[in-house]
Formats: sequence, C-alpha cells, structure tokens
Amino acid sequence: MYIVQIASECAPVIKAGGLGDVVYGLSRELENKGHCVELILPMYDCMRYDHIWGLHDAYLNLWVPWYGAAIHCSVYCGWVHGRLCFFIRPNSQDNFFNRGCYYGCDDDNMRFAFFSKAALQFLQQSNKRPDVIHCHDWQTGLVPVLLYEIYKYHGMEYQRVCYTIHNFKHQGFAGVEVLQATGLNRPEYYFQYDKLRDNFNPFAINMMKGGIVYANAVTTVSPYHAWEAQHTDIGYGLGHTLYLHRDKFQGVLNGIDYEFWNPQRDRYIPSNYSSEDFEQKIYNKKALRDRLQLQQVDKPLVAYIGRLDQQKGVHLVHHAIYHSLARDAQFVLLGAATEKSIHDWFAHEKEFLSTNPDAHIELGFNEELSHLIYAGADIIVVPSNYEPCGLTQIIGLKYGTVPVVRGVGGLVNTVFDWDYDQMHPPEERNGFVFFEQDNYALESALNRAIDVYNLNPDLFQKLAIQGMNYDYSWNHPAQKYIEIYDFIRHPW
Ligand code: ADP
Repeated sequence: MYIVQIASECAPVIKAGGLGDVVYGLSRELENKGHCVELILPMYDCMRYDHIWGLHDAYLNLWVPWYGAAIHCSVYCGWVHGRLCFFIRPNSQDNFFNRGCYYGCDDDNMRFAFFSKAALQFLQQSNKRPDVIHCHDWQTGLVPVLLYEIYKYHGMEYQRVCYTIHNFKHQGFAGVEVLQATGLNRPEYYFQYDKLRDNFNPFAINMMKGGIVYANAVTTVSPYHAWEAQHTDIGYGLGHTLYLHRDKFQGVLNGIDYEFWNPQRDRYIPSNYSSEDFEQKIYNKKALRDRLQLQQVDKPLVAYIGRLDQQKGVHLVHHAIYHSLARDAQFVLLGAATEKSIHDWFAHEKEFLSTNPDAHIELGFNEELSHLIYAGADIIVVPSNYEPCGLTQIIGLKYGTVPVVRGVGGLVNTVFDWDYDQMHPPEERNGFVFFEQDNYALESALNRAIDVYNLNPDLFQKLAIQGMNYDYSWNHPAQKYIEIYDFIRHPW
C-alpha cells in the first residue's frame, strides 16, 4: 500500500510531544511491514535540521490557491532517520512557518489550514496518488474536507483518509475567513451542524469536527480514551459528533519505537541493560545522580517527565515532589511549561529545592536527559487529569521503571495495578494505579510503590521486569492500522 502521512510533527525533527513520536514510529513500522510511506510536514525554521539527511529541493513551483489568488511554495525533501519527508515552505509575507515555534501563534488556524491545503495541492500537482492519506489532530482536520469537497474533482477521487485524534482539547476553531482562504467558500453549506459548525459556538467552524465528519476512518490513541471521548466531558464537546460517526470511530493504542526507546541499545545511557541483566540499571541511576548532583544513597528515585500543563495534573506533580521527599525518596522532574504561570511556579520550586541533595527540577525540553531519567529512575509518576494514550508510562515500562499513574485514558490500557487489578493475573501486573484527583489518592499509590521498593526489593524488581516484558512496540498497532486502511479502501 502507498500511504502518505500529513502531520504537523514528526520526531525527532519536529517534536513538541507524543504526536511526533507516533507519526515517526507508525511510519517506520508500516515500512517494516512492506508498505510505502511518505510524510508531508511544514518546513518550520526552528525544526531540528541536524536530523534530516540529504535535504534537497523536490518541487520548486508549487502554487497553492489562497484567497482567490495563490501562494508560491517550495517543497524540500529529505530523510529523517530513514523516513522520506517532504517539507512545505510557503514563500509569502505571512511567514507561516518562520515563527521560531511550532504552535502558539494567533493565526495558528490559518497556518495549518494553509498547510492542509498545500499538502493536498502538492499531492495533486506532483501526481502522487496514495491509497491512504493518514492525517493527525486539528492541524490537518481540513485535509479530508478539502479532499472530498475540492480535490476529488481534480483527479483524487480514489484517495481515502484515516484521521487520528491525539488530543481533543485543541480543535482548531475558525471563522468564515478559513472557508474563503481555502476556497471552500459557501459558508451557508459548511456552517451546518452536520458539517463543520462547532457544536457549541454557532459562529465558528471546528476543524477537528470537519476531520471526524469527512474522514473515512477516525481513530484516537487508546481504546479507553475512545470510550471517554464519546461518553464523558473529555470529548470537549465532540462526544455527540463521535457518537453519530461511531461506526467509523475506534481507539488504537499507540506503540513506541523500540529502535529508539530500548535500554539494550540506547546510546544516550551509560549502561545498557535488558530484563536479563536488570542489575545493570543501577549504573544509570548512579550516572543520573552524578549528572544532577543528587546524593548517592540507597533510596528510591521517583521521576516525572512531560509537559507541565493542566492536562498532566500539575498540582499532583507538585505534590508528588514533596510527598516523595517526605517519604525519604529522591525526585527528578523534567518538563517544559506551556503557560507562564506554571513555568514561574516550577521555577520557584526549582530555586527552593536547589540545595536539596534529593531533588532536581529541570525546566525545558531535553531529549537526551529524558533517556537517562527513564533508565535511572525506579518509579515514574503520571498523575494526568486526562491522558489520551500517554507515552511516558510506556517508555517507563520498557526501561524497567515502575509507573504510578492515574487511571484515565490510555493509562488504563497499559498499567495494571499490582494490588487491585481484577483483569490480569499477578504475573501480568506492572504498576500502581489511583483514580481520584486529590493528593490522598496519589499518596496511596505512591506509598504502595515506595513501600514495595523499601520492604520487598525482590518483588519490586519482579514487577519492573514484568513491565519490561510487555510488548508495546508498534508491531500490533501498525497491524491494526493496516486493517483499517484496507477496510476503507475496500469497505464492501
Ligand atoms: P503529550 O501529551 O505531550 O503528547 P505523551 O506522554 O504522549 O504526552 O508524550 C510525551 C513525549 O514527549 C515522550 O516521548 C516524552 O519523553 C517526551 N517529553 C515530554 N516532555 C519532555 C521534556 N521536557 N524533555 C524531553 N522529552 C520530553
């Protein structure tokens, strides 16, 4: 099959979070399974050019219709760790992708509406006719809309679209100007509730809703989150739309790329290990403590890695730091805040804890350090308010770092409580789960983990190894996506 992924991120060249990991990891596994995959991405000024091999111009004369005129774009092509990527660079004064950031601009809806249009225009003009277009999140929600309303009539009638939602919170709202700019026009047609009109704001179109309505298949990133999105407020107002389109909607659990996330081969950690020689993991803990100037004592080391954002339960992350210290454990945090107030809060904590030999807070994005933390920590906390899939607990499991998680979204599908899980026998349990959103709930699960570490080290190691033995690679999810692609190509 010939598959084109259209996305706003692809790790490691463009990575703001899990979306980038998924786009890269899924593409690689699809190729391993014998399919042809190409990626179309925006050419941001701030992406990691050092991860692109052989960047060269591929198509210098792409004219993308925009507001009744056209914007000239150059398309560059290169390999990101073996994946063939096309980068679209608009040459206009809008400077859509020369902003020094991936997201967070006032005109994000216009930037990504343009990207969606440009990606299809590129496919159409360069005569690429993939069997399946796989697009992701609100940034590319207009791709199936544009395909079925415009490009279908310009030689692209056989292309099918799979649309994956990684986060329902950000949906891409816009006014009539997006319809005019993209050439969709006809506001009276699109401002219908069964088309793009937002379910709650009658004056806005909703790009993610467009993706759901028009795509041939819609997925989200874990089975439990697919249920939550339809039946709880986690769908952020799209629950009814998902319910109407339930026949084409399902959850497919994300995997992680075991080439990249593998303690046996990881080149960012000083001591490689597997479940067979688990005792080597301790050298990474020593290295982590050395690097972060923590004292070398026999204590459990608890970690948090992730965005510092309301979604991630920042109040519980904060409580986890002080509760771990109160329980005589060490704590390491690596995170970048999405809001200034949260950044200032954790910057203050960093300052406050700067002389504490048992705690370290690292603010910012640091891929390399994250590997050392996954390998060096004993416990990883993920106390999210909601979590569509969550990769940090899956990576933690692979590195023998026992997860303590809140039972929401994909965390429910991946972490099985040592004491209370009813669905898995003890030899398949791999972590600790709590459900409520208060400090006591977190404490109860974290206490259980720390107690097992302190009182029964053999059991703790057994639990860690059980987690390592799970297969959360892309093998199964990619197979599932291939079935979905096959189905939308031949639904009869
Ligand atoms: P998100 O909601 O951000 O997509 P996920 O758990 O799905 O959360 O994915 C997070 C990914 O980003 C993981 O690969 C994690 O290691 C990485 N990550 C998050 N924050 C940082 C950071 N500050 N430095 C390095 N890597 C990070």
